[in-house]
Amino acid sequence: MIPAPFTYQRASSVDEALELAARSGEDAKFLAGGHSLLPLMKLRLALPGILVDIGRLGELRYIRDDGSHIEVGALTSHDDMARSGLLASEVPLLAHAAGQVGDPQVRHRGTIGGSLVHADPAADLPAVILALGATLVARGPSGSREIGAGAFFRGLFETSLQPGELLTAIRIPKPLAVGWSFQKFTKRAIDWAIVGVAVQGGSVALVNMGQTPLRATAVEQALASGAGPRDAAAHAAEDSSPPDDINAGRGYREHLARVLVARALEESRSRS
Ligand code: FAD
Repeated sequence: MIPAPFTYQRASSVDEALELAARSGEDAKFLAGGHSLLPLMKLRLALPGILVDIGRLGELRYIRDDGSHIEVGALTSHDDMARSGLLASEVPLLAHAAGQVGDPQVRHRGTIGGSLVHADPAADLPAVILALGATLVARGPSGSREIGAGAFFRGLFETSLQPGELLTAIRIPKPLAVGWSFQKFTKRAIDWAIVGVAVQGGSVALVNMGQTPLRATAVEQALASGAGPRDAAAHAAEDSSPPDDINAGRGYREHLARVLVARALEESRSRS
């Protein structure tokens, strides 16, 4: 398929990107790795009149230790994160999960910012960011603001970013509880998760169990009251609304969530 006509503009700084987007209003979209936006445009499910290419903004591509937290620039690729020694030692959950996204081509082009803003409930990193209790930093024409991961994901492919706002960074608080696990059930190695689970200490988040990535609060509460992995995992599907599609039915996904949460909690315990 061929996308509808659009104008292409490449930004050479964050300030210029914000200016270009502000000039074009709701008709503009930022282009990062293009691995989610371009397929949508080709299917004509997204019809931006102006693409503001932020893909070469090196100032947004970094992973650094800021003392109280680890900060990841929004344009950091999945591959950068998977190979980062700093993440491997400080936030291994994120490094490991980034290495499970798609295939090598997707991991080289796709960015953490693009993945979070695209807000696909089947994507891996939104749930990871929830389990890590991260804060997202956005910049718009009127300045910067911080958004907790729990308030960022609003609905299917919907976030709390305003038109023209750029996600610039993700801040992950330190110190993190030691135990972690990421479980992803796929039919083939490179597929999207049918269901996935991210665990960091007592925080548990689910991939593809609703319209947004979800915190498994009933599991977290059971853990806090002293339940073991298996008993806590029995609550994994509570308050979820998994899709019923050609990959799996709702009941199968609920079953998978319970199985994967139990595995994740056991693996997390073995690491703590
Ligand atoms: P883009 O496609 O450039 O942008 C996506 C959206 O985010 C657009 O709306 C864009 O305007 C907006 N945007 C991008 N960056 C910013 C920013 N900094 N501020 C504001 N808005 C922004 N993902 C998984 O999680 N797991 C998988 O297993 C997986 N498999 C995949 C397999 C294939 C074959 C493909 C093509 C993709 C797959 N993905 C998977 C998705 C992949 O991770 C995407 O790269 C990612 O979701 C989007 O990142 P991007 O940089 O390509 O964003």
